[in-house]
Amino acid sequence: MVFDLDMITKFYSCYSQKVAATRKVVNHPLTLTEKILYAHLWRGNADAAFERGKDYVDFAPDRVAMQDATAQMALLQFMQSGRIKVSVPSTVHCDHLIQAEVGATPDLTRAKSQNKEVYDFLASVSDKYGIGFWKPGAGIIHQVVLENYAFPGGMMIGTDSHTVNAGGLGIIAIGVGGADACDVMAGLPWELKFPKLIGIKLTGKLKGWTSAKDIILKVAGILTVKGGTGAIVEYFGEGATSLSCTGKGTICNMGAEIGATTSIFGYDQKMAAYLKGTGRAEVAALADKVHEDLTGDNEVYENPEKYFDQVIEINLSELEPHINGPFTPDLAWPISKFAEAVKKNNWPEELEVGLIGSCTNSSYEDITRAASVAQQATENGIKTKSEFTITPGSEQVRFTVARDGYLDIFEKMGGVVLANACGPCIGQWARHSKDPNKKNSILTSYNRNFAKRNDGNANTHAFVASPEITTALAIAGSLTFNPLTDYLANDKGEKVKLKEPQGIEMPVKGFAVDDAGFQAPAEDGSKIEVIVSPTSDRLQLLEPFPAWTENDLKNLKLLIKAKGKCTTDHISMAGPWLKYRGHLDNISNNLLIGAINFFNEKTNLVKNQLTGNYGPLPETQRAYKAAGIGSVIVADENYGEGSSREHAAMEPRHLGVKAVIVKSFARIHETNLKKQGLLGITFADKKDYDKVLEDDVIDIYGVDDFKVDSPLRVHLTHKDKTTDSFFVNHTYNEQQIEWYKAGGALNIIRREFEESKN
Ligand code: SF4
Repeated sequence: MVFDLDMITKFYSCYSQKVAATRKVVNHPLTLTEKILYAHLWRGNADAAFERGKDYVDFAPDRVAMQDATAQMALLQFMQSGRIKVSVPSTVHCDHLIQAEVGATPDLTRAKSQNKEVYDFLASVSDKYGIGFWKPGAGIIHQVVLENYAFPGGMMIGTDSHTVNAGGLGIIAIGVGGADACDVMAGLPWELKFPKLIGIKLTGKLKGWTSAKDIILKVAGILTVKGGTGAIVEYFGEGATSLSCTGKGTICNMGAEIGATTSIFGYDQKMAAYLKGTGRAEVAALADKVHEDLTGDNEVYENPEKYFDQVIEINLSELEPHINGPFTPDLAWPISKFAEAVKKNNWPEELEVGLIGSCTNSSYEDITRAASVAQQATENGIKTKSEFTITPGSEQVRFTVARDGYLDIFEKMGGVVLANACGPCIGQWARHSKDPNKKNSILTSYNRNFAKRNDGNANTHAFVASPEITTALAIAGSLTFNPLTDYLANDKGEKVKLKEPQGIEMPVKGFAVDDAGFQAPAEDGSKIEVIVSPTSDRLQLLEPFPAWTENDLKNLKLLIKAKGKCTTDHISMAGPWLKYRGHLDNISNNLLIGAINFFNEKTNLVKNQLTGNYGPLPETQRAYKAAGIGSVIVADENYGEGSSREHAAMEPRHLGVKAVIVKSFARIHETNLKKQGLLGITFADKKDYDKVLEDDVIDIYGVDDFKVDSPLRVHLTHKDKTTDSFFVNHTYNEQQIEWYKAGGALNIIRREFEESKN
């Protein structure tokens, strides 16, 4: 048993009391989301209801999951916390670093050798600190979590945006940055703006070619990639309870594509069946006892407009299969309109590759439905025209569908089974492309389809659909094929119409696996050594950042005055840099290389005030650091929007930047800067941005008397010795001021822990 029955039993023993207490505070019938959120308040219940979309609230998540790319920095930071064990059940999953090229076995062997130092580090650090470790090949984080850890009514955070997948099993699951994961593992609260609530009522029942995937593809078309921002999406209605648990997972998974904080379904018989089928009958029995509190109140679902901020209704009986794309997941096309759209927009009609599986769509139900389509091709003598790949989500699913003969069916149609890993979904795909300069189309059952996402090629038009539609179009080799109406030709030249897919929700013989790929942590990790080679260029143990000193903010140089959008991608680029996520010094060589310099409109070219020459930004900052001179980043609106990766805050801190002055911050990044001990401040008058000149020397006053709500002052000395001065605001609270003075939150966490031992 890998799940934590003790923790879950304890949770359910007081869950209903917490919901009852919430009723006294929230003066109306409760949505499921409210029940779960209030039940997870840090240190008990609130005195008053929180205002949706406004109040920031501290929560106590039940568990943490981390994928291998993001776990590295999260765990390097956790090692700095002084703790000997994680405070909540936590797991690491090795899925993102495996490149797909020829097939599961050789690809996995190669990845194990290429990423050995990262895997050795993650295995040893997990072993030492009480973290469950899922080896490379064990599966994709979200599928493994759904199969083993998610439980109705719980709350988890994960260092991956598709953590939300677990909502299919009724848990509030939210993607976060590594710094947040580190805090929760160290026993600290986790902050979230109390979300708005979107209710989606599902009526009717899916039939024929339509599947759960088509529900979220339709929702993405309605809400767009931004429509769920700051909201939790709660699904309900007869259509919701008719969906399989894994189908619900698919819908929640792609909630990330509408920007939702997360999505959730209420506990029902399908979830109970999935819990039992995946070896967790005990959890189902516990959930059954409190089932009324594991779904929204009847009054809420009868009058949703009164209790949700927005309500959408979808009739599943009328829903068509959808294909979304290219280049964005919210460009939604019912299949009856898609062929026309392909022709009208001049998208490449030939489908070069069909790819099914991934964390989004690799359940037993998905595989069996797709296989029922694939089998018709072989039985009818139809030759599959596109390349075709299958990515199982976990070893348990792979083993079970192999045992039941479904992988053979795909292989007979020419399909290649890839490793149980992210592979082409995250660009880890050595694609065999005849001509990369040619516009081409691929169709996946994954979730994201932004330009270059799958194969790094801007000419690739990626579309997203269900596994069964992907399989049908791959057989036809054409994007304009509609299996609901069109015919294929077999090897005798006869016309063949594909029959509707048939799937099996749960394996009749039950799930099975030889070696699931799980390594339990040591009971006592005190003697275990964390493996990090001192010569590694991918991993580097962290040193605590130094505490603030009085002269820290005097005589600073302007590193860059960034113009326009500056997301965490501009600050710390992804792509090839992902390799260095566990090595702060090496990844710092990408600091702000995507930001546009206001003074020359160029990226990665700033003036070195020590030499007067222009050069790459990281190099310039390293020259300041070597000379013992601090620097300042100045930027525009919403600095640090996008992914919550903490590298965007750690890199400037590591390289000696002392302050970031902006017109406004994206909140998560602002908090990350505070956590890392950097001064993040905003122009009191945004027009003062214009006063900052390229050769300025900058002093910041007021930090020696740093107080809540008390502005600081910036003094600029220009090259011609004229000066300017203006106020800047900050949002540091008492605790964050302590973080700043101590040189970062981890320094405080470690100190408090040390003190608690004495
Ligand atoms: S399969 Fe794709 S979406 Fe899922 S965790 Fe991996 S990269 Fe993310």
